[in-house]
Amino acid sequence: MTANTAPDLLDLAPLGADHFARVEDKIAALMRTRETVVTMQGEALLPLEACIRSAVRPGSTALNVITGPYGETFGGWLRSCGADVVTVSAPFSGAVSPERIAEALRAHPEIEFVSLVHAEAATGNTNPVAEIGRVVREHGALLMLDAVASVAAEPLLTDEWGVDLCVIGGQKAMAGPAGVSTVSVSARAWERIAANEQAPRRSYLSLLDWKERWIDGGRAVLPHAPAQLEMLALEQAADRIAADGLDAVIGRHLAARGATRTGVRALGGLTPYVVRREHAAPAATTLRAPEGVDAREVVAAALAADPSVPLQAGGGALAKEMIRVNHYGTAASRATVLDSLAALAAGLRTLGVAVADDDEVLAAAGAEWDGLVRS
Ligand SMILES: *Cc1c(COP(=O)(O)O)cnc(C)c1O
Repeated sequence: MTANTAPDLLDLAPLGADHFARVEDKIAALMRTRETVVTMQGEALLPLEACIRSAVRPGSTALNVITGPYGETFGGWLRSCGADVVTVSAPFSGAVSPERIAEALRAHPEIEFVSLVHAEAATGNTNPVAEIGRVVREHGALLMLDAVASVAAEPLLTDEWGVDLCVIGGQKAMAGPAGVSTVSVSARAWERIAANEQAPRRSYLSLLDWKERWIDGGRAVLPHAPAQLEMLALEQAADRIAADGLDAVIGRHLAARGATRTGVRALGGLTPYVVRREHAAPAATTLRAPEGVDAREVVAAALAADPSVPLQAGGGALAKEMIRVNHYGTAASRATVLDSLAALAAGLRTLGVAVADDDEVLAAAGAEWDGLVRS
C-alpha cells in the first residue's frame, strides 16, 4: 500500500451552505428544471421513498407503472401509505405506451399520483416520458419519475415533460457518487405535500423539513452537517459533464447502445432483450442468453476471458436468461463496448456456442459507434 496515491479526503475546509446550494444548481441545470431541488443525503432510494411518502395520502389512488424491479418497489411503498394502487406492467422487452397510461387514467379518474421509471438499468428498457407526461398532466395527477439511470445517458427534460417529482443519482451515467441524490419538486407537488397530513415531518424521509429549514430560508443554513465528500464528488461529476458537453456525454451513451446491439447481432448466439432500439436504455444493454444456456454461465465465461468488462447476469428471476452490459459512465466508451463484445464472444466459444469471428463483430460495432458519434 502506498498511502500517498490516495486522494486527500480528510481535514478539508467545511462545505458551506453557499457551496451546497451551488452544487444543487448545477444538478438542476443538468435536469433541465427551474423548480426547487433538494439534495438528500442518501442513495437515490431515499428521495424516491420520500416522494411517495410525502405526496401520497391514505385512501387516494395511485397509478404505478412497472417496467422493471424499481417499479415493483414503488408499489410496496404506495400500498404502505394506504393508497389504492392501479398497476400497469409492460414486458421487460419493451417500453410502456402512453396509450396504456391514458387508458388506465380514463378507467380510474380518481388517480392522483403516477410513479414511473424513465430508464431501467436492470432490465435495459426506457420509457417515452415526454408523451406519458402529457397524458398525466391532462389528467391532473402528479408525476414522479425515477431518472437515476437516464440522467446524462439520454435527454431528460424535467420541466418540459411536466415531471413533478424527478429523482436522479450520480452513480450511473454521471460517473459520480451514490451517496447523495437530488429530487426536483414542482410547485404543484409542494402544495399536495403540504396538504398531506401523513407526509413525513421531523424525519430523514421528509421533503417538508428540507423545504422549511433549507429552501424557505433562502438556502442560508444547512439543516445538518453536509455529506461533504459526496457533494464535492457530485460537483466534480457535474463539472466534468459540463466541460465535455451534456450532449456529447449523452451521445457516448447512445453510441454504446447502438454499437452493442449491432455487435451482438453480428455475433450471433445472443439477442438484444429489448426488441426495438428506441425502447432500449442507453445506460445498459440487456441480452437474451442462447436457448438452453444459462446467462450466469455466459457471464462467468466472458469474465474469465476478460475480468475488466462491465458484464453481469440479470437479477432475481431473470438471472438464467438475461445478461447485462453496463455501458454507463466511463464505460460508455468505444473501447469498453468492443472489449465487452470480445469477452462475450470468447465466453460463448468456451461454452460451445457458435459465434462469428471477432474481426467481423468488432468491425460492425466499431463502425456503428463511429457513425453515431460523428452524426
Ligand atoms: C440504478 C438505479 C437506481 C439506484 O439503484 P442502485 O442499485 O443503488 O444503483 C434507482 N433506480 C433505477 C431505475 C436505477 O437503474
